[in-house]
Amino acid sequence: MNFGWFNDNTDDDEFSRTVVHEFGHALGCIHEHQQPNANIQWNRPVVYDAYRISQGWTRAQVDAQVFNQYTAADVTASALDNLSIMEYAIPAEFTLNGWSAPTNTHLSQTDVTFIATMYPGVNVSPLDTGVFNSMSVRPWNTPTSDNRGTIKFTGAPLPAVPQILLGLNWFDMGHGLNFRIRSLVEQVTTASCTINLQSWADTVNYSSGVSWLKLPANNQDFQGGTFDTTDPTRTTALGQVTHKINFAHAYASPPTVVVFLTSVDTEKGRNTRAKVYATDVQTDGFNVHVDSTSDTLLWNAGIAWFAYPTNKKGITSGTCSTSDVRSWEQASQLANSRPVTFPDQTFDKAPRVFMAVNQLDIGYQTNARIHLSSSNVTKTGMEWHIDAWGDTKMYLAGVSWIAC
Ligand SMILES: [Zn+2]
Repeated sequence: MNFGWFNDNTDDDEFSRTVVHEFGHALGCIHEHQQPNANIQWNRPVVYDAYRISQGWTRAQVDAQVFNQYTAADVTASALDNLSIMEYAIPAEFTLNGWSAPTNTHLSQTDVTFIATMYPGVNVSPLDTGVFNSMSVRPWNTPTSDNRGTIKFTGAPLPAVPQILLGLNWFDMGHGLNFRIRSLVEQVTTASCTINLQSWADTVNYSSGVSWLKLPANNQDFQGGTFDTTDPTRTTALGQVTHKINFAHAYASPPTVVVFLTSVDTEKGRNTRAKVYATDVQTDGFNVHVDSTSDTLLWNAGIAWFAYPTNKKGITSGTCSTSDVRSWEQASQLANSRPVTFPDQTFDKAPRVFMAVNQLDIGYQTNARIHLSSSNVTKTGMEWHIDAWGDTKMYLAGVSWIAC
């Protein structure tokens, strides 16, 4: 561990970055760029020079800290994650193919889910959540239409096949083409599920991701489902759609309902805009709304919904939006975050956080990119992040989150 440069003037992001990174080492984590799946195309002369000048490292030290790669026999690894807290800041000039890593200051979603599989602990909640990203099965620069991966459930074996809900938490879709992405649960067993992040026709899906939520089978407290506007006989784009959802089991009093997007299909040359929300929540059901706004041509949208008894201990939820922290005109402000406080006495320990988009207004002249995450999650609160990257114009993005 190396905390050598801390002093009273060190800023909080630097404390966070370094302390979390060094505790990663304490838990047995190695540097991300040295993991078995890394295969980074280093520009070695540039890297040797840079670390000699900035750190005073010899070539042998650079070999040991940067180039030497572990094998799959040495360590268990995820796919390469350039957002990992265990990654150095890697400028693009360090590599031959433009691969880079930003200065990461908090745990990535893959960090959170991967370390939870290495240290599963005891999960007493009947709910579970995690993420899946296309970049865990292929690099971003080899876009494909089908992006399948398998999630292995942790904890005790399940007595029955659970229900899996998906919500979009990440995309990087090529511009000048229709925006088409759908997240599919292709198979579920008591031990695992197979997810597909699918685009179709000429859409270029550089990367895409979902949060998944696992519900126990036939549970009367935790209920969920999906709704999709797809209708092969319809030839016009959507306007305002309302659809009644009926619960399989009625609640004693109106539950809390959370809705989010599982799929979006919008026409090229116009912003990708869609909004989903619930109204008229009763003990037996609610209305879900899918709205298209302005000049957007929304061909189809898919939603997932989740309901639970209001004020139940061990779970809470909410919504957040870029509009909470800035105006839509500030579309180039790509990092957006704010702390949230959980209701008193909801949790005995830090919960896991599910996040998925419920509203989008993303510009069409550049790639449509978004990345959701949470940080500083404790039993009393968390900080949400709605980020984009590159030249994306994110006019507005809204999110539904569930802490459980
Ligand atoms: Zn380190």
